[in-house]
Amino acid sequence: MTASGSPHDAAAAPVVPFSQFVIKVHSRCDLACDHCYVYEHADTSWRGKPKAVPGEVLARTAERIAEHARAHALPAVHVVLHGGEPLLAGPATLRLAAEELHRALPPGCALDLRIHTNAVLLSAAFLDLFAEYGIKVGVSLDGDRASNDRHRRFADGRSSHAKVLAALDLLRRPEYRHLYAGLLCTIDVENDPIAVYEALVALEPPRIDFLLPHATWDTPPPRPERLGPHPYADWLLAIHERWLADGRPVPVRTFESVHRTLRGRSSLTESLGLDPADLVVVETDGSFEQADSLKTAYDGAPATGFTVLEHTLDQVADHPGMRERQSGLAGLSGQCRGCPVVRSCGGGLYAHRYRSGSGFANPSVFCGDLMQLITTVRDRIGPAATVPAQAGPVEPDLTDEQFDQLAAGYGDRATVKALAGAQLGLTRRMLAALADGRPDAWQLLADLDGRAPHALDAVLGHPYARAWAARCLRGERGADLGGLAELAAAAALRARVEVDLPVPVREGAVHLPTLGRLVVGGAGEARLTTTADGFTVRGTTVGWDTPAGGAWQPVRRVALPGWTVALEDTDPQRDSHQWPVADRLAEDELLGWTGGLREAWELIGRDLPDHAPGLAAGLSTVTPLRPGPEGRDVSAAARQAFGAVGIARPATAPILALLLVHEFQHVKLGAVLDRHELFDPTDDRLYHAPWRPDPRPLEGLLQGTYAHLAVTEFWGTRVRTYDGLPGAAAEHARLQLAVWRGHTATAVEDLGASGSLTGLGKRLIDGMRAAVEPWLTVPVGAAAEAAARARAAEDRVRRQAAHTTR
Ligand code: SF4
Repeated sequence: MTASGSPHDAAAAPVVPFSQFVIKVHSRCDLACDHCYVYEHADTSWRGKPKAVPGEVLARTAERIAEHARAHALPAVHVVLHGGEPLLAGPATLRLAAEELHRALPPGCALDLRIHTNAVLLSAAFLDLFAEYGIKVGVSLDGDRASNDRHRRFADGRSSHAKVLAALDLLRRPEYRHLYAGLLCTIDVENDPIAVYEALVALEPPRIDFLLPHATWDTPPPRPERLGPHPYADWLLAIHERWLADGRPVPVRTFESVHRTLRGRSSLTESLGLDPADLVVVETDGSFEQADSLKTAYDGAPATGFTVLEHTLDQVADHPGMRERQSGLAGLSGQCRGCPVVRSCGGGLYAHRYRSGSGFANPSVFCGDLMQLITTVRDRIGPAATVPAQAGPVEPDLTDEQFDQLAAGYGDRATVKALAGAQLGLTRRMLAALADGRPDAWQLLADLDGRAPHALDAVLGHPYARAWAARCLRGERGADLGGLAELAAAAALRARVEVDLPVPVREGAVHLPTLGRLVVGGAGEARLTTTADGFTVRGTTVGWDTPAGGAWQPVRRVALPGWTVALEDTDPQRDSHQWPVADRLAEDELLGWTGGLREAWELIGRDLPDHAPGLAAGLSTVTPLRPGPEGRDVSAAARQAFGAVGIARPATAPILALLLVHEFQHVKLGAVLDRHELFDPTDDRLYHAPWRPDPRPLEGLLQGTYAHLAVTEFWGTRVRTYDGLPGAAAEHARLQLAVWRGHTATAVEDLGASGSLTGLGKRLIDGMRAAVEPWLTVPVGAAAEAAARARAAEDRVRRQAAHTTR
């Protein structure tokens, strides 16, 4: 019998690569939990498996995962060391598993390695090993002592609770705390939900997962009559209510998944939502199996017939059972497909749909509970947007520490990533507002949101996606909704998902944001279709590995140590800056940019190291501009294009470095202003910026001052480098520092005195003041001081002249 039975053709859908791997390192357990699906349910295959995984199986498993990661360019793989009880495998085997995985995975593919354990044997020796390899620890615990003792006992009936608590005390010590992944709690409706919740929260887990007990229509879960028709929903809802009242003190995967799916976002668990399953299990004998939960269905249910020794993961992904689990809505029973909460529920966990005779073509055996849980949560959290692919809850604000980093002019990788995440949410909301204009493209985007969220985010994170959406929303001339099709097509191509979509032809080319443009001639619209080898528009085919040249003009990226940046010269939406953009770069100009960026990046890493991590995390795109008037250096950033700066390539790498950090200051502050009110928006006065003849609105002064923090630091570090040496370059640096620190300090005080700052705005200014102060005392010499004073006097005269002629 195969895991099939629903009325659609799963084989027609493209295979989704695996990214989650469960490796069974030991097939026996030191507890005898009576709700365990491995030993107490229908599948008895564990009896024929080796107890401990042999080294050869571990090595081949690592190679198979690495092969799969390379084939699908996976940015990360998630691996769980599992059992039975994985600690029974011993430290040598666990070390070998970690070593083989680290050794085999290709550069650029991150390894998220975890172990799921009952923690009875967890010791400092194990934790030292896990710290060495970054192995995170998830612990199974069903709540307080009484709740846990109901099932999680030794074979002789003894409680395991005290041992697990001792292990969790160890895991929460400062030296191991970073390894603590969370708690997994299997629900028993006889347990008091609040006692369970309080006991788990008291253990300060980074995350809690509540798991429904495994059951099928043949072996339904316990439903004591006195607890009503949907006891599992009631049990979870009692905790949900308390969790909301407590201010969500800890992430709960079950609740977050319901909240996210109600808003059209992806689920965080295979047991909810319509996301295709991307998990595979490797048993101790090297056999590939489907999800462990299938062990509850029937003897042999998870088997695939494939092994790590003989088969690739692509072959496993093509197995009918795997395809069935990846087929989303189409793979569900008719009752589920017509269900109003199907996008959140997804028919529940695949294994829970099983019934002899009809296989898996049924609603979940927990159907009534899931319906009750989802509809109650939906009503509780307010009218959720039901539009697919729309952004979820507003991303959390910056932490105080992150805000203070930005106030000092910097922002580390996590801080800038937080800004980028908020910007992505904003772009998604803007796109949702345009969805009706291209329902076909919107549907594809929604589909990709579930199937290939990373590919979708890579395209929606493109700086000019939001710039285009903003133009459309403003109803600007030339901004049309074909842009939605361009974004959807680009995301589909990134995900290698089949697509057949009309896309606009602009200026003789089809534009695929983040990928490039295909010159096809003419105007209007053309059909873009994928084939096994690539994609085709108007008879022109681009293979997956087609190099630059001819009709296909890909976006070119400059890969530097720790930073990869796109040189955007194809997307028509890039014309979003105040200066005109350059045309497609010729080879010699491209070489000039590549060399310039390399040198500039080295300089930033050496002289402005606190700017480098944030810039690498958030500056994805440099858009070449045409040279400025009379050869002036020109550069720009745009509020609607987070992650991009426009620059006309300057003559020297240091000036390129200066322009990069200067403009990226605008990018960061723009993202902060999108989320936080820093000043009174009704203040419509104009303020003098010391560096400009024309007065500026308060926001303009703030933006300029923030950017000049980096300019001051740049010249300050140059002055320190020259360290009092003579010469024109040293004199120039000293003059620049004298000028810019004066301008910046003056502007900081003007902002502070405006009377229009909010509390957060004052905090930003305090940080900026503290950042500029150390540069005010760096010696620059009398000549530079005098020249700077003269320059300031000239500026004052110019400003007054501009004022009187206005
Ligand atoms: S609530 Fe029931 S019918 Fe609706 S999707 Fe879930 S299992 Fe299917």
